[in-house]
Amino acid sequence: MLGTMQNVPLSIAQLLRYGSTVHGSSTVATWTGSESRVATYAQIGRRSAQLAHALRSLGVDSDQRVGTFMWNNNEHLEAYLAVPSMGAVLHTLNIRLFPEQLIYVVNHAEDYVIIVDGTLVPLLNQQLPKFTTVRHVVVANGDPSTVQAPDGVEVHGYEDLLAAQPEEFDWPSLDENTAAAMCYTSGTTGDPKGVVYSHRSIWLHSMQVCMTDGMALSQRDKTLAIVPQFHAMSWGLPYAAFMSGASLVMPDRFLQPEPIAKILATEKPTFAAAVPTVWQGLLQYLEQNPQDISHLREVVVGGSAVPPSLMHAFEEKHNVRVVHAWGMTETSPLGSVARPPRGVTGEQEWAYRYTQGRFPASVQARLIGADGKELPWDGKSVGELEVAGPWIAAAYYRDPDPEKFHDGWLRTGDVGHITPDGFLTLTDRAKDVIKSGGEWISSVELENHVMAHPAVAEAAVVGIPDEKWDERPLVAVVIKEGQSVTAAELREFLVDKVAKWQLPEYWTFIDEVPKTSVGKFDKKRLRARHAQGELTVETVK
Ligand code: AMP
Repeated sequence: MLGTMQNVPLSIAQLLRYGSTVHGSSTVATWTGSESRVATYAQIGRRSAQLAHALRSLGVDSDQRVGTFMWNNNEHLEAYLAVPSMGAVLHTLNIRLFPEQLIYVVNHAEDYVIIVDGTLVPLLNQQLPKFTTVRHVVVANGDPSTVQAPDGVEVHGYEDLLAAQPEEFDWPSLDENTAAAMCYTSGTTGDPKGVVYSHRSIWLHSMQVCMTDGMALSQRDKTLAIVPQFHAMSWGLPYAAFMSGASLVMPDRFLQPEPIAKILATEKPTFAAAVPTVWQGLLQYLEQNPQDISHLREVVVGGSAVPPSLMHAFEEKHNVRVVHAWGMTETSPLGSVARPPRGVTGEQEWAYRYTQGRFPASVQARLIGADGKELPWDGKSVGELEVAGPWIAAAYYRDPDPEKFHDGWLRTGDVGHITPDGFLTLTDRAKDVIKSGGEWISSVELENHVMAHPAVAEAAVVGIPDEKWDERPLVAVVIKEGQSVTAAELREFLVDKVAKWQLPEYWTFIDEVPKTSVGKFDKKRLRARHAQGELTVETVK
């Protein structure tokens, strides 16, 4: 027997229609350096229709890929809404990819149009001649004449293209499994992999972002989306904002601690999301330049493990709750969120909050041991996390990777354990675990302990080859400005925190931990710097 309910396809067009009418007075504010330029969702709705007409005039009439090479801003939001709604596929390009990776993803996705922010034109110009399928470049917030277009590529101004276009569009009815948007992984090894989100997956994921134990986004919120729109769809915030009516604040290219502090002071958002390194930077800035940021009801932090010291500092110094979440490009990205169960308080509550959190009903999870067998959720057994669900990738775009997908599950490459009540703790990336004398040392755990030292700004731990033990941890430390600490003092600081055999003997002091294109610690580069003898290593026993 079938259900008797209507089979209405879930679509971005419906999110666009809903957000721009019912929540037509909600706003998106893009920072310009000194103030915000603001548009209502009603205006964004009209401009999205104009953008769709404009793209149609360039020949976008089916599932052509429309690339965006942009910061988080109003125009990028318009592309998020218009491109999938008209039946085309949005391809958010990571502006920080290495040139050869950028060329690879544009050609692999076969982008037909690229919308680029004026300030990013010089970066795009360098690679433009190597894009084989791009026929149109549209410049937003800048001068089209700066584009050095090769033969066969037409250049347009975003506003010129939109002007005089109708403010309504007859959005087509699409199968909900149609591709809506794509994003390539920022993997540090091999070619990037394309993840293609469907209208259905984005819709369901947006609902999860809005759910109380998700990010609890609602029309009462003003959301500062620091996480780039080119990184895992800004964690789904733009679509969830149109679903809930939450207003958006976009930082554009102003991502350093000082402008972020200024945006906070001016816009007073209630919610924000970014990777830990952004919050570490802001925290240090606020130490020198105090400012009330308690208008933030909470900030969701993920993308890498959040050091407990960071959570405490925000809560105790700034009265801002940091909520830890886990996800991946392949998981849309929201996978788990750490909201403690009812009734727990004090240290126990903190212990829950340090974890990567609980999975929602839509995301199934299992742990697989070294022997390929499933492990129990006992809070102890450590294995590789695998996940499945309606917003989890089932494959990469035109790139079979049987290693990553099997039996309908995604292998995450993350290693950890899960408690009987479903709280995930990741101990490491499979490739970052330090294998010392047949035992595993969690690089993340060591980092968290070192970063809890008051003189430490950042610390990254990598395994380095060791004749006797196979691998030993090397701790790379960035000291806070105006502070000092020695390797011996830091080792002493760890004595009562980790097992004796885990105590690191190799230390190096650096100016900055190298970061990936999305702001995570780049341990591959750190290992390479060590292998090339570029680091001065102190040995303390
Ligand atoms: P990306 O696809 O660039 O978002 O990277 C996804 C990867 O980031 C995951 O597989 C994890 O290794 C890492 N990651 C994301 N969130 C967390 C977290 N809360 N704790 C630890 N690692 C995380």
